[in-house]
Amino acid sequence: MTEPIVDAAPAIDFDLTSLPKVSLHDHLDGGLRPATIIELAEAVGHTLPSTDPVALGEWFRESADSGSLVRYLETFDHTVAVMQTKEGLIRVAKEFVEDLADDGVVYGEVRWAPEQHLQKGLSLDDVVEAVQEGLEAGVDAVTESGREIQVGQLITAMRHADRGQEIAELAVRHRNKGAVGFDIAGAEDGFLPSRFKDAFTYLAEHNFPATVHAGEAAGLESIQSALVDGRALRLGHGVRIAEDIMVEFDDEDDDAASDEDNIGLVTLGDLSSWIRDRGIALEICPSSNLQTGAIAGFGEGIESHPLDMLYQLGFNVTINTDNRLMSGVTLTDEFELLVETFDYDLDDLLELTLNAAEASFLPLEEKEALVEYINDAYDNLG
Ligand SMILES: [Zn+2]
Repeated sequence: MTEPIVDAAPAIDFDLTSLPKVSLHDHLDGGLRPATIIELAEAVGHTLPSTDPVALGEWFRESADSGSLVRYLETFDHTVAVMQTKEGLIRVAKEFVEDLADDGVVYGEVRWAPEQHLQKGLSLDDVVEAVQEGLEAGVDAVTESGREIQVGQLITAMRHADRGQEIAELAVRHRNKGAVGFDIAGAEDGFLPSRFKDAFTYLAEHNFPATVHAGEAAGLESIQSALVDGRALRLGHGVRIAEDIMVEFDDEDDDAASDEDNIGLVTLGDLSSWIRDRGIALEICPSSNLQTGAIAGFGEGIESHPLDMLYQLGFNVTINTDNRLMSGVTLTDEFELLVETFDYDLDDLLELTLNAAEASFLPLEEKEALVEYINDAYDNLG
């Protein structure tokens, strides 16, 4: 018997879990533990596709892998169903923070849509308070275990619904009680951010920051509306901004050279220039983008993801998980994927992490402390 031959040494040969990470795009209702869903479902009488934690986790991943954003979004019917009580919300939020800490996350913005959690009679304020209670309990548990984490809520409105103004007011009302930003989520195609123009104007008038899902299931028109109507300071995914970048390959001179060496001319359109030059952060979620078909227009497989081109061109790229349960990933997994796919090294991972820290909705002093913490941790890697 011979030992298997390792044909290529990885660029980084240690566990990436301990690297300090910043998570800007992670849905609360997409990050539940399967065992918790089963327990909570039993308590509220909700029927699940499986009551075995392993099989249920597998069902979520398979549904997410279908290549359809609509089917992907259907999985949320089950997670949202068990998050309709105060107890359910507190438990899910607490475990969410503990799972982030286990993934090395030191700062996380947790997004979720309060309007989807009113089925059992709780009010919008009740559910935001319950989630905040759970998040704080999670932070306490992490602190007690000798680690550090800080989290904030991104209050999200569902784009197919019509409660934008109400949700924007809810977010502003809770700005000093856990809410750090606003977002719109759900079916992007056909529901432009301009539908929520008044809500975004209200937020801008109250100096309350917004990130907007755009450039995932829809293209440049949606991104433009996120910037103009949504005054987005960050873009949820934003990956389809690559459609506004023209790359001409010049492979006539040297057939032996790889495509990378043959990029002759890169031309940015006005929209992609604006996003790059203003440093508007892209909340890229590699595995999710592959699963929902967001990057299908750029080729097959993760190696076709335009995130590497965007990063090389100087866009403000951040790396995120989107929905850890549905995609079956952690932020550590996503980092490992980038190391394997694009040969990223620690300098790249540090830059992507600092991008996220600087794009966070933290106040400046806290942002600077976070940046320093991350730099120190990387310095101490030896
Ligand atoms: Zn998302």
